[in-house]
Order: sequence, then C-alpha cells, then structure tokens
Amino acid sequence: MCADTATLKEKFAAPSLDLPWETDIVALRRDFHAHPELGYEEVRTSGIVAERLRALGLEVREGVAETGVIGLLQGALPGPCVLVRADMDALPVEEKNEWEWRSGTQGKMHACGHDAHTATALTVARLLAEQKDTLAGSVKFMFQPAEEGLGGAGRMIEEGLLEDPRPDYALALHVWSDLEAGKIATKPGPAMACADRFEARIIGKGGHGAIPQQTIDPVVIASQVVLALQTTVSRNIDPLQPAVVTVGKVWAGSTFNVIPNEAVIEGTVRSFDPTVRATLERRCREIIEELPKVFGARGEFDYEWGYPATINDARVTEIVQRALQSVVGAENVVEFQPTMGAEDMSLVLEKIPGCYFFVGGRNEAIDAVYPHHHEKFNIDERALEIGARAMVAALK
Ligand SMILES: [Zn+2]
Ligand SMILES: [Zn+2]
Repeated sequence: MCADTATLKEKFAAPSLDLPWETDIVALRRDFHAHPELGYEEVRTSGIVAERLRALGLEVREGVAETGVIGLLQGALPGPCVLVRADMDALPVEEKNEWEWRSGTQGKMHACGHDAHTATALTVARLLAEQKDTLAGSVKFMFQPAEEGLGGAGRMIEEGLLEDPRPDYALALHVWSDLEAGKIATKPGPAMACADRFEARIIGKGGHGAIPQQTIDPVVIASQVVLALQTTVSRNIDPLQPAVVTVGKVWAGSTFNVIPNEAVIEGTVRSFDPTVRATLERRCREIIEELPKVFGARGEFDYEWGYPATINDARVTEIVQRALQSVVGAENVVEFQPTMGAEDMSLVLEKIPGCYFFVGGRNEAIDAVYPHHHEKFNIDERALEIGARAMVAALK
C-alpha cells in the first residue's frame, strides 16, 4: 500500500457517527461497491435487498424485470402510497481507486453511485419500518436493475410496478459529484433531458480512390451530412431552448485508397421540450434522407426515442424542498441547473407526479471530485446519511 493510499484510507475511514444505523449504511455501500453488477445481472445485490426487506417485515416481490425488487411497507395509519426508487446497476468501467472496498470484479465498477442509492434506500426502509406504528400510508420501494441505458425502470412499469397499490407520488435521489457534500439540490420542472439516438446509412457506390468520377463517394456525403445536422440546433430551434445533436460515431471504409460503398453515422439527440424533440427528429430525418439525393446517393434513417425528460412536479417538489431544508438547513438546499444527461426515473415521473433530487457527494479534501462514470469516481460518504435522512423527511 502506498503512502497516498494510506492517507486516503484514513480520510475515508467510516465517520464517527452518533446514530447506530449510520455505520451500517457505510458498510452496506462499501459492500455493494466491492461487488458491482451490470444491468440485469444484479443477482447478488438484489438478493441482499430482498433478504433485508423481508427481515424488516416488508411485502417483497422479486424478479421484476429480471433482477428488480419491489418492497411494500404498510404503515399503521391511513395515508398515501409513495414510491421510493433506487437503482442497483454498475458500469463496465475498470476502477482505478485503491481502497479496500474497490471493485473486486475486473472491468466493472459502481462509477455512478448506484451502490450509494441501494444502501440509502435500504436504510430508509429500515428507519421507516422501525416507525411503522406511526407511519401514515405506505411506502413502495423500487430497487431497479439496468438504469444505465438499458431501461430497467420501463420494464418494471410494464411488469406492474405502478399497480396494486398505485403510488400517489414518487421520489428518487442521486448522489452528485458536481455538488458539495452537505448540500442538496432540486427544482420544480425539467431536471434531466430526454435522450434519443439515431443511426444513418449513406449508400453510395464504391470504387478506386484514384477514379472518383466512377463512384458516388459516401464519405464526402457523410461529411456534409454531419455538418448539416449541426444546423438543426443552430437554425431550427429557438436559441432559448436547450438542445444537443451530437454525432458520436462515423464509420466508413477499410483502407486509404478505396472509396467504400457506404458510410454509417450514429448520434444522440437531447432536449427537454416535446416540440423541440419532434423538430429535431424531423430535421435530422430530412437531412439524412434528402441531402444524399443531391449527390446521387441514398440515405437511410433510423430514430429511436429513448428516455423522456425527467420533470419534477411543482407541488411535490415544493413539499420535498421544505423537508430537505429541515435536514440540512435552508442555506444548503439549492436549485440545480438542469443537465442534458438522462435518467430512466423519467419513465416513472411521466406517469406519477414526483421529485428527483441530487445529494452532494463532492469533497476536494478527500479527492471526491471525479465526474460520474469516471474510473476514479467516488463520493464523500456523508452523502449516505444525508440522503437517508432527506428521504425519510420527505416521506413524512
Ligand atoms: Zn450513470
Ligand atoms: Zn446514475
């Protein structure tokens, strides 16, 4: 172990906390962190979740969307049903952190903080189960698989997540590396963007690199298509509306002196507003299908609607904001800037009013500064306790 590691480990020693459950929440998170599982493979994680929920007396349903778990906690008093969501999946990232609880699985890492979400939601279940006699209504815990691009929340909804009982509102938190530990951020309205993807194929006519007049060069056409796609945001969308069109993949050819038959372009499209979203899809389609015709080529276009925008309900968010203030103080509850990232909690919030909030995990003193999905991503573990307290306050 190098000196740096020792220093970091000291800094990351479980904080001395005055409530008995706090050590447990840190230990839980570290255990999940050491055993990361990718989307739809969260067998160990969901097994621990189901076992713990059962031990707390919750009604548990396993195997929802393969590895998802639903736990229902019934309070003694009448009241609403509230859904609390935690995601459980890790990412295909090789961890470069050094501490004892680093990933024990090569090529997999909890680099987004979903280990923290699972530990926090289990702790919330425990705290509320202890107060069951005075709890009004019920809390439905949603431990979902495959948030990272694979749509686990959507599959849980298809398999009955929002029925029997139907939640009146829904809550979720995300630890956030851009926000100082000790702070919580939320805001009514748009929180995260909708994320669509497209694939385009430009079909030309291949041939010798030195005899271009006998070919229809898809590389040159694809280059113009990429540039034209950028005009969708700059020329077709209101400058005051957030929108992104990014071409992330351009592929064509196999060697330097052969003009290939076709070129492939893939990209992501982000927006908040449904009209903007529809305009971007239409303009991307027009450019990709029509522009190649000018050059005698053909364009094929495939557009896939992904996660919708994550929108916080104004009324629920106002109530939650007050609850959050009671935990960390009004000065530490801030409004966040919406991000163009996406989140499949949006599928729940499309159907049930709710609030999604960020719990600060950033702390430069312990090097918890790396962005989500980074190989050195980490959080200040005080975020666990704060997250659990915040969620309990929001539920009461
Ligand atoms: Zn992520
Ligand atoms: Zn995440």
